[in-house]
Amino acid sequence: MGDCLFCKIVAGQLPSEKVFEDDDFLALKDIHPKAPTHVLVVPKKHIPSLADVSAEDEVMLGRLMHRVALVARDLGVADKGYKVVLNVREHGGQIVPHIHVHILGGERIKGLV
Ligand code: AMP
Ligand code: ZN
Repeated sequence: MGDCLFCKIVAGQLPSEKVFEDDDFLALKDIHPKAPTHVLVVPKKHIPSLADVSAEDEVMLGRLMHRVALVARDLGVADKGYKVVLNVREHGGQIVPHIHVHILGGERIKGLV
């Protein structure tokens, strides 16, 4: 586990505002929300970034995107829509080196693309 922030949250060693949890994923409110709804969906497996996945992660990655859709539905943002952001390494603006997907919604979300 080392010093990974999200591994510590997954292990319950640091507090978080959980909105979903099962054996493989945790969804928590972002501590510095950039939108009215800002939730992170985090696989419990420690993978540093999308750039570090391997073939054995394919099923988990598919389930991750399905979980994002289900959590967004539960949060009530699916009807109007939301933006999904996955920052990768330095140029992608990734701060926490444990793969996670941002769900941003509750208003029109600006993005580059
Ligand atoms: P990223 O730039 O994709 O690595 O985003 C990391 C996100 O984690 C940022 O939006 C932070 O606000 C958020 N964050 C950092 N620490 C915590 C924490 N303890 N609980 C919840 N979210 C956090
Ligand atoms: Zn980790």
